[in-house]
Amino acid sequence: MSDYMVRGTAADGEIRFFGASTRETAEFAKNAHQLSPIAAAALGRLLTAGAMMGAMMKSEEDRLTLKIDCDGPIGGLVVTADALGHVKGYVKNPNVVLPSKIPGKLNVGDALDLGVLSVIRDTGLKEPYIGQTILQTGEIAEDLTYYFATSEQTPSSVALGVLFDKDGSVRTAGGFILQIMPGATDETLTKLEERLSKMGPITTLLSAGKTIEEVLEGLLAGMGPEFLQQDPVAFTCDCSKERTEEMLASLPTADLKEMINDGKEVEAVCHFCGKKYVFSIEEMKEILGRR
Ligand code: ZN
Repeated sequence: MSDYMVRGTAADGEIRFFGASTRETAEFAKNAHQLSPIAAAALGRLLTAGAMMGAMMKSEEDRLTLKIDCDGPIGGLVVTADALGHVKGYVKNPNVVLPSKIPGKLNVGDALDLGVLSVIRDTGLKEPYIGQTILQTGEIAEDLTYYFATSEQTPSSVALGVLFDKDGSVRTAGGFILQIMPGATDETLTKLEERLSKMGPITTLLSAGKTIEEVLEGLLAGMGPEFLQQDPVAFTCDCSKERTEEMLASLPTADLKEMINDGKEVEAVCHFCGKKYVFSIEEMKEILGRR
């Protein structure tokens, strides 16, 4: 089943929700960057959040970047998304390995440790919108929950999960974002808080075979959840040989000459998807010859 996200409302519009099913996206990222399990879990979670937060933007041209700069051994993460479910991302140290604190649970929090989460929305204005928050747990979902409450004044509940099979492939991945809209009643809030407190980890629900819709229906039962839209989600990179060539062409002349004098093919790797672009000496000379 291909990845997708859903969105909708409940309690007569007092709650809005987003849900995403992202196994293939997480698996693609893991293979593209040859990620350790912890790195794959962290990036899979952030990609899942990126898809849903991207869908909160108004225009197809808008771009969302979720950036985590942190002290932990993972070094940092970057995810970008558009409003149409296209996401891509990478981690600084794809090989990070740490012992588990809780058996069976990957120690993502310590892999990130202390740091800052930035949410950058580029809507074509001169200056992009930038919201920032200090990492609370480094588990990403809690950090985003805190971000929505403090930076956007929107009480929210974020759950993100990536679970692996014994062979290391991603068994299931997904998450949701529930948000309380202005004017929501205390009754709605109380009911939702009670449901969330009883829910248990999202990975447990997903690994039991529940779809993200079923998870949301369970949480919002009796509150009339209405699913309004479903859209595909996919790890998508817009890199190309042409774009890579433009990047090389912008390097200082001295650097280009040095590469040519090395006498070896030049290999440029896309940060976001790991794709390699190879340029022969002849191609390098041609790029240099244009100036
Ligand atoms: Zn790429």
